[in-house]
Amino acid sequence: MSIKILSDDLINKIAAGEVLERPSSAVKELVENSIDANANEINIYIRDGGKTEIIVSDNGDGINSNELPLAIKRHATSKLSLENFNNISSLGFRGEALPSIASVSEMLIKTKTENDKEGTSIEISSGLTESIKPVNQKKGTHITVRNLFFSTPARLKFLKSENYESLTIKKIIQKLAMCNYKINFKLYINNKLVLSTKKINDANNYNLLKNRTSEILGNQFLENTLYFDEKVDDFRFFGFLGVPTFHHSNTNNQYIFINKRVIQDKSLNVLFKLAYRDFISYDRFPQFISFIQCPKSEVDVNVHPSKNEVRFKDIKSLRSRIISLVKNNLKKVNHFASTVNTERAIDKFSKFTSQSLLELNDPSESSSLNLESINDKLESENINQKKNFPLGYAKSQFHNTYIISQTNEGIVVVDQHAAHERIVYERMKSEIYNKNIKTQILLIPVVIDLDKSMLNVLVDLLDKVRNYGLVIEPFGNDSIIVREIPAILSDCDVKILALDIINELIENNDSSSVKEQINKICSKMACHGSIRAGREMQINEMNDLLRKMETTPFSGQCNHGRPTYVELKLNDIERLFGRK
Ligand code: ADP
Ligand code: MG
Repeated sequence: MSIKILSDDLINKIAAGEVLERPSSAVKELVENSIDANANEINIYIRDGGKTEIIVSDNGDGINSNELPLAIKRHATSKLSLENFNNISSLGFRGEALPSIASVSEMLIKTKTENDKEGTSIEISSGLTESIKPVNQKKGTHITVRNLFFSTPARLKFLKSENYESLTIKKIIQKLAMCNYKINFKLYINNKLVLSTKKINDANNYNLLKNRTSEILGNQFLENTLYFDEKVDDFRFFGFLGVPTFHHSNTNNQYIFINKRVIQDKSLNVLFKLAYRDFISYDRFPQFISFIQCPKSEVDVNVHPSKNEVRFKDIKSLRSRIISLVKNNLKKVNHFASTVNTERAIDKFSKFTSQSLLELNDPSESSSLNLESINDKLESENINQKKNFPLGYAKSQFHNTYIISQTNEGIVVVDQHAAHERIVYERMKSEIYNKNIKTQILLIPVVIDLDKSMLNVLVDLLDKVRNYGLVIEPFGNDSIIVREIPAILSDCDVKILALDIINELIENNDSSSVKEQINKICSKMACHGSIRAGREMQINEMNDLLRKMETTPFSGQCNHGRPTYVELKLNDIERLFGRK
């Protein structure tokens, strides 16, 4: 076999394999070209999941008629030169997209610049130019791609159902529209308008982004996220961070943009997951929008053919910046728990009430019963004269597990164990990190018999155990005695607690970082030493818990990411009873 240089056509088809994974990659490349051409209106039309037709039409700068044949040549670009190689600000720069798409489809480009008197069109089929001629076209570019991958049947076979491909396209347009919140987008799928953004006349960055977020993700997203905008050295971070209880089953609602570029880089998703680790169970994912802006020299965008990934010069400091940024902002959340839980509660309640109304012979009887039990102890009638606490005043406990409290605007139902667990956890952590752990001396110390081999390992760990507020000493040849435990723990089986902590320290003594270990142990202690579900509480004890929740960071969710309370506003309650 003799060695030959590949033909342009083959080179383009190979490049197409890299740049174009599926129709959505072609859509992304075309829309990014429109953005680079300074368009402020971009319309996208899709048919059959993009397999038979993709049209991207913009009002951008257009392509000079004499340069149009060049635009579809490989490595031909207006965006890159030696001067700006290390300072790329456009989305494209590799000059690969148009020739790649053209080599595996039937493509028609119509374009006109400000200066050209008339438009020009070029028709290409499977990489071969079929015609170039004048055309009626307003300023901007209109590109039609038909029968994508028709000349590469192997790739065609890998495409998924129309629905899947359409959804993938919608997701990428959502991301591009979110990131480019000053540009207007319309997406039509099989003639149906599925995404449309409105022009708003507002120069304020926050207002524009907020408006775009509500258009794309809805108001529920805004209600359950907090805006942040911070500068750290040369970096600026801004966007919306979801409160921890507003979690999701996957990373679909994580929007990360770096220097106005849509990034799909798992390692960055992991960074955010780490930042939320303390508040969300491992199988759930936070929802957020994060714009990261940094000097171009800090980040290499040329590491991935479809430019989905980037490489940071100093990933370690980015990591610590993101983690502390997220944590500091989430502290502001305090007791706030996602409103999604309220919606879910209403949904469940509504189904339940409509069902039970059908089943009950005399509904009035049952509702008066319920009212009576709530009215039973109303301990203080003049609630309105009291201070306006966000979580209100405890009214009653039910099933020895939940607290009902009345706020100025409605009621709050608190899961007593989950709430207390979070409070204990945060207190323990702060005491341990500040080396100020308060202990209580046990009236009757607890003796625990141990295996000899375990005892040997344990003796070396007793000092460490003391840092966690557990004072344990060897007792005879095969036992230990627990004399003190952290003061904050109540309701706790000392023996089980001590064994659990000892096991944790033995198992993970070397493997996890100190911080990770402290957090894990605090979480274990909190789980053991918190008010159990099933324990009766007095009104003042309940109010005490509510006040602590209000001042404890992250108290809207327990250590496992479940909400600690659900709020029903009077409005919601009126909806339940059909008054509204
Ligand atoms: P790149 O974007 O990396 O430069 P492409 O193959 O995507 O490479 O595009 C080649 C060139 O065609 C671009 O550099 C640009 O000059 C021109 N071009 C493509 N699409 C458009 C558009 N929608 N509006 C104006 N110019 C465009
Ligand atoms: Mg491009």
